[in-house]
Amino acid sequence: MEASAWMDQAEHTILHTYNRYPVVLDHGEGVYLYGTDGKKYLDFAAGIGVQALGYGNKEYNDALKMQIDKLLHTSNLYYNQPIIEAAEKLCQVSGMERVFFTNSGAEAIEGAIKAAKKYAYLKDGSTRHEIIAMEHSFHGRTLGALSVTGNARYREPFEPLPGIVKFAEYNNLDSVAALVNEKTCAIILETVQGEGGIYPATKEFLTGVKRLCKEHGALLILDEIQCGMGRSGHMFAWQGHGVKPDIMACAKALGCGVPVGAFLLAGHVAEASLKPGDHGTTYGGNPFVGAAVRKVLDIFQEQKLTEHVQQVSGYLERKLEQIKETYGFVMERRGLGLMQGIELDPKVPAAKISRLCLEQGLILITAGNNVLRFLPPLVIEEKHVDEMAGILQKIFDKYQEKT
Ligand SMILES: *Cc1c(COP(=O)(O)O)cnc(C)c1O
Repeated sequence: MEASAWMDQAEHTILHTYNRYPVVLDHGEGVYLYGTDGKKYLDFAAGIGVQALGYGNKEYNDALKMQIDKLLHTSNLYYNQPIIEAAEKLCQVSGMERVFFTNSGAEAIEGAIKAAKKYAYLKDGSTRHEIIAMEHSFHGRTLGALSVTGNARYREPFEPLPGIVKFAEYNNLDSVAALVNEKTCAIILETVQGEGGIYPATKEFLTGVKRLCKEHGALLILDEIQCGMGRSGHMFAWQGHGVKPDIMACAKALGCGVPVGAFLLAGHVAEASLKPGDHGTTYGGNPFVGAAVRKVLDIFQEQKLTEHVQQVSGYLERKLEQIKETYGFVMERRGLGLMQGIELDPKVPAAKISRLCLEQGLILITAGNNVLRFLPPLVIEEKHVDEMAGILQKIFDKYQEKT
């Protein structure tokens, strides 16, 4: 069947909540994807930061195949070995003390909020606690995650949203200090804002927010769903700043394609928050995702992926800086590790550039306000950065002539 026929069929059956790119992806190999028509694409989006290992990693695929034949699901009424080992490894690399596995990022945020609320409730018996979140943040599409998402367009049709949430300005400590009080149970932020346009938190901001939390007995929740799992050059971006959260949310690359997320608690929060009956999930942390997470963490360690990211991301950063110097309509480069963005002048629409890239065999997505987002598999090499830059520059050259 022709790709166009597949797309037609999709638009008749699947709820139209996405304006999809006109391509039907069929298979992947390394850092390349292939359409049903055989066309090859260099992937600089990694399924929105999920496919850290790229495609067709034999060790990972074999581990999943073995687990499928052994045991897929048991429910959380019983113990299973893969998830116990995955939990051990995840706590080890994160330095957090306890983990709860979910099926998605949004669910990890839901759990994080519930843990913070229960912690505050046990302390003073009140249910009038407030949460401070950030403008331009993104934490997911479920009602609880939406309640802390600082994007009016996403929120408005679904208001009133649960809880009392106030929004501060990212990287502006005074704006947080102005909102925090004894009712604040948590301050939630992405260590690097993703959807909002690729803004890394400054060390001063993170340190300051942590201090405000301590002073007011609030918990720091860091959303590491997009920037975590090695993308920043550290296993988790906060580790690069030495600011440990009380609660951390993780997902996307955690399963490298298998739907799994997690929220992790520091010991003092785990001891005094969610107890049997407070939270649960049918699928969450089943043996199949356990086998995936366990293997992903093994491969990260064996291949020293965080070190690789530190090296190759320096190369990507320099390339993007060169591009910024060359083209007057590139306003800024921002980012951390292999999570980078370049902001374009409004007269060069990032969405249009993204579509032209696709035509030229490069998968590149957008973020925030006219930002091109670079979120490749962590296993990319310098030659892939060169290939990406070559395609992008060809497209930019045409715009340079026009502007
Ligand atoms: C993707 C994302 C989420 C939501 O994750 P889902 O798995 O789509 O629910 C939350 N926070 C951040 C920072 C994200 O990038």
